[in-house]
Amino acid sequence: RAGGTYSGIDESHAHLNMPATFMWARKMESAPITVTFVPASEDWKVASQLFPTEDPFVYSAPDLQYFMDSPTELSNHSVREWSVGSGEATQRIRLAVHHQGTEKEVDDYAAMAELVVAEQIGVFGEAPVFDVGFYTFLADYLPYISGDGMEHRNSTVIASTRPLSTGALRNLGTLSHEFFHAWNVERIRPKTLEPFDFENANMSNELWFAEGFTSYYTGLTIRRAGLTDDEQYAGSLGGTISTVVNSPGRSLFSPVEMSQRAPFVDASTFIDPTNFGNTFVSYYTWGSAIGLGLDLTLRERFGKSLDDFMQLAWVRFGKRQSPYTVTGLQDLLGDLTGDQAFAEMFFARYIEGRETVDYSSLLATVGFSLEKSNPGVVALGSRIEDADGGVSVLDYTTIGSVLYSAGVDKGAVITRIDGRKAKAKTLENSKPGDTFLIEFRQRGVTKTASIEMEEDESLAVVTFESLDRVLSESQRQRRSAWLASRAMQ
Ligand SMILES: [Zn+2]
Repeated sequence: RAGGTYSGIDESHAHLNMPATFMWARKMESAPITVTFVPASEDWKVASQLFPTEDPFVYSAPDLQYFMDSPTELSNHSVREWSVGSGEATQRIRLAVHHQGTEKEVDDYAAMAELVVAEQIGVFGEAPVFDVGFYTFLADYLPYISGDGMEHRNSTVIASTRPLSTGALRNLGTLSHEFFHAWNVERIRPKTLEPFDFENANMSNELWFAEGFTSYYTGLTIRRAGLTDDEQYAGSLGGTISTVVNSPGRSLFSPVEMSQRAPFVDASTFIDPTNFGNTFVSYYTWGSAIGLGLDLTLRERFGKSLDDFMQLAWVRFGKRQSPYTVTGLQDLLGDLTGDQAFAEMFFARYIEGRETVDYSSLLATVGFSLEKSNPGVVALGSRIEDADGGVSVLDYTTIGSVLYSAGVDKGAVITRIDGRKAKAKTLENSKPGDTFLIEFRQRGVTKTASIEMEEDESLAVVTFESLDRVLSESQRQRRSAWLASRAMQ
C-alpha cells in the first residue's frame, strides 16, 4: 500500500514513510539522525525533505519529529524545479514524479502545478520558509500503489493509480490540497496535534478547519489558476453542499465532534460493519462547505474574504509557530470582522452546532444557483437489487428515508409490492407521491408497511448562465473578485 501512510519496497522503488519503516528508542527523541540509503538500482536517486549532505545518499534530520515527518522516495523518477518568491526569499519547488508515462506529461503537469502553487502563495501573501530551502512533491503515479496524499512540513507524498495521461487534473487536486497544508496544518498548527504522538491516537477538534478549509481551497485555487471553468467549479461545490445538507449524521454531531473521530475514519479500515453513512459526515466535506459559506458571508456582509481570514491566521499562528485552538479561530474571526457577536454566532451555530448556512442565497450573490439534482426522481434510502424471493435491501437505510421510516433495514427482502411479487424497478421507476403496500421479510419475521415515495433531495450547483438567467453587474463583480487569479507577479 505505498501511499501517504504505508511504505512500499519493490523492484521499481523504495517508497518510505518513516513511521512505517523505522523503529526508534524512547528518550532519544531529541538526538540528531543520519541515514544512509543504499539504492537497489544504479538509476535510483533520492527525493526527500531530509537535509542533504555532500553524499547524495546520506541525509540527516535534527530530531525524531523531523525524521518521522520526512517521507523518502528512492527510484528512477523525473524531477522538475522552479523558483517562488524573490530576492532573499527565493526558494525552490521540486516535483519528483515516479511514473510509467512520458517526460512531456511531467512537463505539462509541472506547468499546472506551478500555477496552483502561485495561486496559493497569493492567498497567504507569501510562501512559508521551507526548513531545507526547498519544497518537494513526492509524486507516485503507478498502477500498483494506493491513492493517497499526506502533508509534511517541506514535502508531501501524492500518490495515485491514475496515470498523468488521463488523470492529471484529478491528481492535481491532491497536489493542490497537500501544498495548502504547508501553511494550514504544518505551520498554522492545531494545539491538539502538538507535539505529534507516535504511540497514541492524536485526537483533534479542528479538522473541519485544518482539512476542511484546505479542501475548500483545493478546488478554489485550481479554478483561480484557470485550470477549470466556472461551470466545473460550481459542479464540485454542488456535491459538497449536497452531502453536508442531506447527511443524517449532521443531526448527531457538530464539525468539532466529527473532527474528533479522525482516528476511526481517516484511512482506518474495519472488519466490523459500520453505520457511518448515518452517523458521520466527513470533516473534509463539511469543513469545505463551512469554508465556502464563510467566504461568501465575509464577502457579502463585511467586504472581506476567507483569504483575509487565512492571511490573518498565517500571521497570528503560522509565522509565529503559535498553535491555535477553536476559540483562537473564533477570536480571529471577530478581529477580522470587527464583530465579535457575529463570530460568536457563527461558531455557535456552524462549528460547535450542527446548522448549515443558507447556501442558496449566498450562492446567488455570485450568480450560482442551488438546484435539485434529480427532480422527479425518487430516493429510497438504500441501494436495492432483484434477488431470489424479491428485492434485497443492500445498505443500512438512511435515517428519515422512505425505507427507514417503514422499518426496513439492511438485509431485508421486500417480497411483495401491492400484493404482487416485488421487483426493484417498481420502486425505482415510481414518482414522488406514489404509494405502495410492501411486504418484507426481516430477521425471520414478515412485516407489512405502506410507503409514500419521496423525491431525491440531492443538490447541484450551476451557473446562472447555464439556466439562461442574466447575471447582474454586482453578481458578475462578486464572482470575479472571488474566482480571479491571486498569483503574485
Ligand atoms: Zn489534508
